[in-house]
Amino acid sequence: MVVVMKTSAAQQDVDYVINRARSLGLRAHISQENGHTLIGLLGDVRALDSTVLSGLRGVQRVVSLQQPFRLVSREFKPDDTVIPLNGCQVGGNQVIVMAGPCSVEGRDELMEVAWAVKEAGAHLLRGGAFKPRTSPYSFQGFGEEGLKMLADARKETGLHIVTEVMAPEQVPLVSRYADILQMGTRNMQNYALLHAVGESGMPVLLKRGMMSTIEELLMSAEYILSHGNHNVMLCERGIRTFETYTRNTLDINAVPVLKELTHLPVIVDPSHATGRSSLVRSVSRAAVAAGADGLIIEVHQDPENAVSDGYQSLTPAEFAELMEEVGAISEVLGRSICA
Ligand code: PEP
Ligand code: MN
Repeated sequence: MVVVMKTSAAQQDVDYVINRARSLGLRAHISQENGHTLIGLLGDVRALDSTVLSGLRGVQRVVSLQQPFRLVSREFKPDDTVIPLNGCQVGGNQVIVMAGPCSVEGRDELMEVAWAVKEAGAHLLRGGAFKPRTSPYSFQGFGEEGLKMLADARKETGLHIVTEVMAPEQVPLVSRYADILQMGTRNMQNYALLHAVGESGMPVLLKRGMMSTIEELLMSAEYILSHGNHNVMLCERGIRTFETYTRNTLDINAVPVLKELTHLPVIVDPSHATGRSSLVRSVSRAAVAAGADGLIIEVHQDPENAVSDGYQSLTPAEFAELMEEVGAISEVLGRSICA
């Protein structure tokens, strides 16, 4: 249960509610949201009659939550969160597309693919400078050099940058170059990293853990919001199932489920969900049809020779077709690809 105080509530009003809650045997967790003090009540609230609190001075409303997450929940904040990014509104009526290589492979290579995805209509450039690889012997990314290349590509093309951050101590560095911090599937429950990106205030693309439930994804997002950062996009990128034909299984249910449970924007990554370039276009269409607010797509000018994830990367020509198709689907649904 959460007590939402009026923006005009005085500190004495807040203290009174806290003391009243304590007298009822509850603990109080205080946070701030858009000028409102929120008093989260912890303990056995089942028997509590919420009118005991809703009548107190300074109280705007008392929300009784059915779910363990709070700040991310739609019960708590019914209106969609809309994140402004490079002239687009993520989570509103627009569909946005992030595209680019799995890894930043070099300056010239990056510029070429950045221009190609921009011409096809992408809004953000993706590319990993710090790469979480299964094998310690695989290419680990160019690190800060790669971030500089991304920042140069932004300067040339105007595309904003989304790139992965893998450790709390990297957050200040990556934030200097990136527009969105990507938290990868392997780090969804890295609580120190969630804390650090929460404190950064930067827009975050939080990818679902490959073996995580939707509730666990939302609890991870709750960490970021509870550290004061509300600019979070959730990303469904496929989960592990018994099926081995595809790299992962896209949980298409997650899109409407998340739309029901949370106000945060939902992005789908059909590249990692399928692991096969031949499937990426159809799954992208399905994601937008299911209500996704955006897509993140791997694109490479020479997929066969990509240093990572070439088998799931689209060529620029295939990506341009994808953009046409998802544009058409968005319009049928009364939405539009951000221009
Ligand atoms: C990536 O985006 O290249 C990536 C490593 O994604 P994920 O964390 O979803 O595997
Ligand atoms: Mn990849």
